[in-house]
Amino acid sequence: MPEIIEGIPDRVLAIYAHPDDPDVSCGGTLARWSRGGAEVHVVICTKGDKGTSDPNVDPAELARVRSGEAAKASELLGIAEKHLLDHPDGELRDDNALRGELVKLVRRLRPSTVLCPDPTAVFFGEDYFNHRDHRVVGFAVLDALSPAAALPHYFPEAGPAHQVETSLMSGTLEPTVWVDVTATIDDKIGAVSCHHSQFADGGEWARRAVRTRAEEDGRRAGVAFAEGFRRLRLGA
Ligand SMILES: [Zn+2]
Repeated sequence: MPEIIEGIPDRVLAIYAHPDDPDVSCGGTLARWSRGGAEVHVVICTKGDKGTSDPNVDPAELARVRSGEAAKASELLGIAEKHLLDHPDGELRDDNALRGELVKLVRRLRPSTVLCPDPTAVFFGEDYFNHRDHRVVGFAVLDALSPAAALPHYFPEAGPAHQVETSLMSGTLEPTVWVDVTATIDDKIGAVSCHHSQFADGGEWARRAVRTRAEEDGRRAGVAFAEGFRRLRLGA
């Protein structure tokens, strides 16, 4: 039987690379949980300043536009607060500096559940392989959660240690749990639609892709629409 996560965590942190990533990856879940009373925080690690195929677009202007798009999407999903790390797009490094930034946020916000990309998901069929920043963020988050944030001698200047209970990794090829997003699939599609700068066709393809993907996950979970995750239980 597929396991569906029914409960609403109290405090949630979603950590992703680019301004549109949380909406595409887990927007239905974030909307469901924020509507259910969770305090949902989002961390965006880069400015998304290279996310265009147009050589005439100014990267700084693109970053500004994408930040505005993401703010509208966050409002739709009921995000409590967004935290921007402002690294250059495409240049994230899985190093001590990034882990330190993440540990500091985790220890300050003290979430019970952290969402991030599954860094082991590399190849999706023959059409797509996972963006480097997504892979980097996934591994940096996991290493920041365990052991770093949970043990006081890692980054002692970053505040008191905090053990996150659960990590849910999106964009996974091996989902182990699902969240029923039937009630919030339209919020998710609305949030994805806010990212106008990312669409050549006005967003029709993206809206269809998001719906189809959620339907496929729903079939596996036995509900109309779902988001699938690889789960790690980190807490005792
Ligand atoms: Zn991305």
